Amino acid sequence: MHWNPWHGCVKLSEGCRNCYVYRIDGSHGRDSRKVYRTADFDLPIRRLRNGRFKIKSGETLYTCLSSDFLLDTADEWRAEAWDMIRRRHDLHFFIITKRIDRLAQSLPPDWGTGYHNVTLCCTVENQDRADYRLPIYLNTPIQHKIIVCEPLLETIDLSPYLTSEIEQVIVGGESGDNARECRYEWVLALQRQCVKAGVSFTFKQTGAHFVKAGIAYNIPREKQHAQARKAGIDYLRPEFNKQSPGPLFDIGDE
Ligand code: SF4
Repeated sequence: MHWNPWHGCVKLSEGCRNCYVYRIDGSHGRDSRKVYRTADFDLPIRRLRNGRFKIKSGETLYTCLSSDFLLDTADEWRAEAWDMIRRRHDLHFFIITKRIDRLAQSLPPDWGTGYHNVTLCCTVENQDRADYRLPIYLNTPIQHKIIVCEPLLETIDLSPYLTSEIEQVIVGGESGDNARECRYEWVLALQRQCVKAGVSFTFKQTGAHFVKAGIAYNIPREKQHAQARKAGIDYLRPEFNKQSPGPLFDIGDE
């Protein structure tokens, strides 16, 4: 289930160039840079007539997929969002950010070593952003950490950052008409690094322009996930603790 407490974003790095939020908003004549609090803001704590929470215990809420949870424009709303996340400790909140460098200043006072019900993923699309964001990520207390390489724009060496606290690496190409290519050898290189480090690995989707063995393929949106699965290169670390939510996540469409 998705929870988008605010909508809209500001492009930040290369991975944002063909952002799907801009693409979808653009097709409706809307400006994605106008960030607003949505009507779903209080979704996690909404109740039914019988007084029970509308969202049942145990659900995972994919949070802020039409923005960035750590966007500065949303600073005024975030304390309330954290409060809902704290109150719904029976749900799991899955958050992906390109703004990990804003996390320390954006945390609630009782964060401690991290809320147990939050997976906070750090996105890196190229080596430059990996080398900038991942040292910060590794130094930040978060209970569940996942690295997302999507859209993967070049080969990346993640090996210095694949410590035991990283629960999973998720990789995918870029979608949309202007998508940049994703090369299978880049994906395979990441998979090998993960296997070597004992970190779970998921090849989520190929993107629209996928190159394998020197041949370029145009893959329709509806087949990109299935084609990635067909590669059969996902890896689950052997000592995977079934209580850990990390490697169970399939984040679907970003
Ligand atoms: S951070 Fe995410 S939502 Fe924001 S512009 Fe970049 S890709 Fe789009």
